[in-house]
Amino acid sequence: MKKGCTFSLHEAWRAFIPHSPIVPWSKVVWFPRRIPKHCFYLWLTFRDGHKTLDKLHSWGVVQYVCCAFRCGQKESIDHLFFACPFIATIWNHFLAKCGFRRSCGGWSGESDWCIQRLQGNSFRSWITKLTLAAVIYHCWMERNNHFFQNSFGNSDSLIQAVALDIEGKCWGLSRVADNPMNSEIFSNWNFPLSLLSVGTSMPAGFLWNL
Ligand SMILES: [Zn+2]
Repeated sequence: MKKGCTFSLHEAWRAFIPHSPIVPWSKVVWFPRRIPKHCFYLWLTFRDGHKTLDKLHSWGVVQYVCCAFRCGQKESIDHLFFACPFIATIWNHFLAKCGFRRSCGGWSGESDWCIQRLQGNSFRSWITKLTLAAVIYHCWMERNNHFFQNSFGNSDSLIQAVALDIEGKCWGLSRVADNPMNSEIFSNWNFPLSLLSVGTSMPAGFLWNL
């Protein structure tokens, strides 16, 4: 700070904290009206921070590497999200609800797709990011339940858990533009079409009034 200038906490913070480059997935993970605990696990996934069995095995911590979802394949981040047939069923189900007609692959390709397609502030982009984070959170929790509590739910119960979180977050939704894509997504999620606003464009970070 220059002598005689007004002290600014912001400038002081910037002086002490080294600048880091903005990662290409930042807007996929950190977006308005997110569910924080879900986005933490999405952040971990982009950072390859999960302690998956392939890592634990390479460190000599465990002897087995088989996926908890009984597909017979080795557990890795690429496999879990979403090359695993069990989890792919869940993500493909929600991709369709968000208006995407595609089949998912492993995380190496899926993360690139998310970075390319989910950067914007449209309602479709927002609900897809919200759902992506919810699927990753609930599938990781289910994986942990299997290993640590020996409990195992089916895909229907996981889909229901994800849907409940998304529907809860969308309660009171308004100011969503009435266009064909948003109408399709509202129908897929059984949201009331009356909540769509004719001629309304969504300002960034302001998706609905509560
Ligand atoms: Zn699997």
